[in-house]
Amino acid sequence: MINEDLRLLEDQISACRLCQLGENRNRAVPGSGPAPARMMLVGEAPGREEDQSGQPFVGRGGRLLDVALQQAGLNRSEIFITSVIKCRPPNNRKPMKKEMASCLPYLQAQMEIVRPKIVCLMGNTAAAAVLGRQGIQSLRGQLWQERFAVTYHPAAVLRNRNLMAEFVSDLERLNSLQDQ
Ligand code: SF4
Repeated sequence: MINEDLRLLEDQISACRLCQLGENRNRAVPGSGPAPARMMLVGEAPGREEDQSGQPFVGRGGRLLDVALQQAGLNRSEIFITSVIKCRPPNNRKPMKKEMASCLPYLQAQMEIVRPKIVCLMGNTAAAAVLGRQGIQSLRGQLWQERFAVTYHPAAVLRNRNLMAEFVSDLERLNSLQDQ
């Protein structure tokens, strides 16, 4: 059954025009997954395929994420997956600070509704937006504020497949933490 609070928030996001990214999107991408959920994954922003479908992580990065989740023993259907920015930036450029500030309250509201034990911030944009810190290598491997973990963004792993083993091992660790 779909969580009613989450559905109302999704409607709000889908109609949002709080920043300029709302002007050129095809579809906003609020996120998907159950509520409550023990784990939440947070990326940067929708890409072309996500903008077309309205679903998070369905493009090449999404397919890589699916493989990594499977290798880590995680079931995507049990995880709430979203991103800091809910509308696609033109040409997949980095989100601007003012766009992140406009959109961040939606992520905060999602965390309140989904109540994840572990929130995995994938990439520097998510780490900067939520923790105010960047530097994946220095942020990996520990829990921040007792619930936030940091790992690579799937797009970074697509660009450098050598990161896949570390990406999977980060997800494996979170898999064990969510069960503790
Ligand atoms: S990116 Fe976020 S704040 Fe900007 S229009 Fe889309 S939902 Fe609204």
